[in-house]
Amino acid sequence: MSFSTLGLSSELLSALEAQKYQTPYPIQQIAIPDILQGHDILGIAPTGSGKTAAYVLPILNQLQSLKKTKNRHVQTLVLVPSRELAIQVNEVVQSFASSLTERIKSLAVFGGVSINPQMIALQHVSILVATPGRLLDLVNSNAVSLSGVDTLVLDEADKMLNLGFKEEMERIFKLLPNKRQNLLFSATFSEDVDTVHQQVLNEPKIIRIKALKKNIDQIIQTAYRVSEERKGPLLRYIIKSKELTQVLVFTSSTHKADRVVEKLRQNGIEAGAIHSKKSQSVRTKTLERFKDGALRVVVATDLLGRGIDIDLLPYIINYELPRSPKDYVHRIGRTGRAEASGEAISLITEEESAHFRIIQKKMGKWVTMVESDELNLQGY
Ligand code: AMP
Repeated sequence: MSFSTLGLSSELLSALEAQKYQTPYPIQQIAIPDILQGHDILGIAPTGSGKTAAYVLPILNQLQSLKKTKNRHVQTLVLVPSRELAIQVNEVVQSFASSLTERIKSLAVFGGVSINPQMIALQHVSILVATPGRLLDLVNSNAVSLSGVDTLVLDEADKMLNLGFKEEMERIFKLLPNKRQNLLFSATFSEDVDTVHQQVLNEPKIIRIKALKKNIDQIIQTAYRVSEERKGPLLRYIIKSKELTQVLVFTSSTHKADRVVEKLRQNGIEAGAIHSKKSQSVRTKTLERFKDGALRVVVATDLLGRGIDIDLLPYIINYELPRSPKDYVHRIGRTGRAEASGEAISLITEEESAHFRIIQKKMGKWVTMVESDELNLQGY
């Protein structure tokens, strides 16, 4: 199967080729023709399945031939739960839009930073990627109108609802014209997602992609049994001896994340923390430095760890286990994306052993346990 059979313009096909996208992922094979035909979509697909390109490509295709609306009247609205995802989706849009002759301007807007530059940047934007709260602020300041929206995308709808954006989303829906195309993507299908789906979607095509199981099999999982006191040295030993250059470490609290970062830095390993107690601008800077390779390690807690998308992240380390098996799968799903293999390493104390057994049982996969007592961690 090749992209050329899906109905995309030749300009987009060249852009895909330039970006080395050779074969469409399953969600793209199904969603792209359906979206081009004007259908609403309910896509249940895990992160890493290629859902962003699955909606960005047909949307750009449609915008290529659509008449531009008035200034400050966006045509496509993409709602997302976090700043990180807003930036990332906008990057995907721009990576394809930049190779089109038709100029299609896009912008990411989110809270936690000054609103004025966003108000100015909203001139002539066709595709707006936004978190719900900031979007409403911009609408209220007349910086943007939603009355010309012909395509609405809800990306990671489950996370948006889990983060309590339901009310804002409903206020936004009321500002949209009735006649429009709606695309809803979610990793899970919860009761809340069902409610929004009933509210927003019109006879949608339903696409379910179960990539999670396959992803898990692609990930090499290892666990080290270790005492609490030796966890820090073991972490540094693993990073140094395996010469890891880009690793995401998970802790269960923001305090612990900061402590781990501090210790890594003291031991000459460039590291930064991403969690709810860090300001938005610090989080973005940390993530950018991580992506650029300036930071070797990012230490994150679960909520924000989910929003971090790095192409083909090679390693994640569970410094502490998450409470739920689902979160464990989410964490390790950060690696081995897009058909490349990754490795997930967990540091397990005696107290965490029983919980780790439960996680493995739920996941349906057993992880090789390495005893770390023999390792000489002196100097780490
Ligand atoms: P997503 O699920 O949209 O976050 O995409 C996951 C990753 O897969 C991203 O890094 C994309 O760049 C990559 N990707 C998406 N579709 C394809 C494709 N057809 N071929 C190669 N890589 C892709």
